[in-house]
Amino acid sequence: MTHPPVALTIAASDPSGGAGIQADLKAFSANGAYGTAVLTALTAQNTQGVTGIHAVPPAFVREQIDTLFADVEVDAVKIGMLADAGIAAAVAEALERHRPRYVVLDPVMVSTSGHRLLEADAVAVVRERLLPLADLITPNLPEAGDLLGVAAAQDRGEAVEQARALLETGARRVLLKGGHHTHDAESVDVLVGEGTGVVELSAPRVDTRNTHGTGCTLSAAIAALRPQCDDWHTAVRAAKDYLTGALRAADTLRVGRGNGPVHH
Ligand code: PLP
Repeated sequence: MTHPPVALTIAASDPSGGAGIQADLKAFSANGAYGTAVLTALTAQNTQGVTGIHAVPPAFVREQIDTLFADVEVDAVKIGMLADAGIAAAVAEALERHRPRYVVLDPVMVSTSGHRLLEADAVAVVRERLLPLADLITPNLPEAGDLLGVAAAQDRGEAVEQARALLETGARRVLLKGGHHTHDAESVDVLVGEGTGVVELSAPRVDTRNTHGTGCTLSAAIAALRPQCDDWHTAVRAAKDYLTGALRAADTLRVGRGNGPVHH
């Protein structure tokens, strides 16, 4: 590529700058992409938690996407927090029409602080409408369980089984993130699907409480890197290495009194 790829995040705002579109735009820039953003919701939150969500009307989410695609050639899309079923359906409908080259879906459901970021009745819309549009989905262990309607995987064998089960529900590739297995010294993710087989990707577990926005950052970095890499495995590996660096640098930031952000 002679010019930077254009990456689009369809996600929500986090005023504390650690997660959501703020994290995505930083990860896009740091990974060589030009960043664009369509907002699904505003959140009121800091590093200690989310106090409120103000969702954008679905028709206006659709209008933002349509107006952007009418003018800008988007190379890769990352989908993050969708808030409710109406927004999830509007995003699916718009992407069915625009068919961007690469789509990464981070099925965001609940914040680390325990606040629901996707209403429960929207999970079916994500599973039925958005999974088939995604080239790669990046659930963590609880999110994979929610998508399948089962308990979160307890070990690596179960994680591989659930990643395979998600392929059967219509996803093309699944990166099942193992970071919630906090007793392991390594954070091991499982990548399965078309063109990748079953691959385990491990990274050293970084000892920091500043992990806010980890999932947003990883999926955005993958979307930024995929157009610059030959295949998904290479893009995911590079994004994971980028995230390890951002986690290692996180303690140099003094932002808020809770779970601080990773440092891009
Ligand atoms: N807020 C927004 C807008 C998000 O998109 C996300 C995750 O995707 C979060 C908060 C949750 O971030 P964390 O669980 O890292 O605190």
